[in-house]
Amino acid sequence: MTTTVAQHTPASFSSTESEPAATNAPERQNLLGMSREQMEDFFLSIGEKKFRAAQLMKWIHQEGSDDFAAMTNLSKPLREKLARLAEIRGPSVVYEGTSNDGTRKWVLEVEDGSYVETVLIPAENGKRRTLCVSSQVGCSLDCSFCSTGKQGFQRNLTAAEIIGQVWVAQRSVGPRRDTANRPVTNVVMMGMGEPLLNFDNVVPAMKLMLDDNGYGLSKRRVTLSTSGVVPMIDKLGDEIDVSLAISLHASTDELRNELVPINRKYNIRALLDACHRYLSKCPDNRQVTIEYTLIRDVNDQQEHAEQLAALLKELPCKINLIPFNPFPNSGYEKPSRNQVMRFQQWLYDLGYNATVRITRGDDIDAACGQLVGKVKDRTKRSARYIQSVQLDAD
Ligand code: SAH
Ligand code: SF4
Repeated sequence: MTTTVAQHTPASFSSTESEPAATNAPERQNLLGMSREQMEDFFLSIGEKKFRAAQLMKWIHQEGSDDFAAMTNLSKPLREKLARLAEIRGPSVVYEGTSNDGTRKWVLEVEDGSYVETVLIPAENGKRRTLCVSSQVGCSLDCSFCSTGKQGFQRNLTAAEIIGQVWVAQRSVGPRRDTANRPVTNVVMMGMGEPLLNFDNVVPAMKLMLDDNGYGLSKRRVTLSTSGVVPMIDKLGDEIDVSLAISLHASTDELRNELVPINRKYNIRALLDACHRYLSKCPDNRQVTIEYTLIRDVNDQQEHAEQLAALLKELPCKINLIPFNPFPNSGYEKPSRNQVMRFQQWLYDLGYNATVRITRGDDIDAACGQLVGKVKDRTKRSARYIQSVQLDAD
């Protein structure tokens, strides 16, 4: 693994032209996480025209800028006004590493000193670069095979902190000047946290991913993964059109209650019904992705494949098998390669062409379920990251 010391200084107050804020001055508004509508409202509220929003969004999200002074298509008085009233403040990069397989990972420090991790995974054919984005620090849902769940819930990320992960990845590669050469081609909300339990911040951030003045990604290339917060799946379908992935992981309620405890509240039937309702709102013939983490001797037997196939009979879906990524004291083991292939074959024989998610970025702890992040002092992992940065810098 190669480790690079973070190149970016923490994104800071953007203008060098502005006077220091008076102590009773209102707090500057962070423009980074504002959706187009929110930014239009902001411009109206400061007596400017709505169309400024599109200009600012291009500077922020396509050029990766955090400096109003550099925004040369705005008049100097407007740049100065913005520097007084607003800022573009992203997370700061405390660690940046590239794995042997090309997976890149950033550890980002967010507002209260918490750490989140974001991972950019290149496809082997070089065509796709998928960014795995976190939505919360920790997670409250406590799935038994997930190390994020084990660390407990700390807080929701703000929209700026969520889109800030895309912004950092994009900036590290350079501005996006042409659509053929995007640093980030796909986003999956599959990092730390349950995105549907942070709906009000996740939705504006995803709107920026889709917006032509933002990252301009198609709805098929932005995926939200949920463990099954059923009412929020319905709400999601009312507010935004993105791809949906469901963390199913079990073929009976009895087993899913154990692996994914939210199943006790919203069982498999309720979850699959919500998937049907979601798809019925999509204008194209979309499919849901069913994520199924294979855990040795827990859910990787032929009967499980048969039950799974029966469950999914009516649902337009594709199945993604994820071999369990072990972590200390999880109590679970990953299945053998052969067992994964057998499971895939059983599904194939039952009419499902399931893909297997190859573990990427293992050597930088970037694989599924390894996005632990620092939660104050509850894990020493970030201390190790910082140590490795310091060692490399020596
Ligand atoms: N909270 C959301 C999104 C984040 S988890 C959700 O649960 O869907 C992203 C995916 O990684 C989920 O499918 C999750 O179940 C899976 N996952 C978590 N821990 C894992 C582990 N140790 N091994 C393999 N997959 C894991
Ligand atoms: Fe939370 Fe998803 Fe992990 Fe479950 S699998 S604990 S919902 S992050």
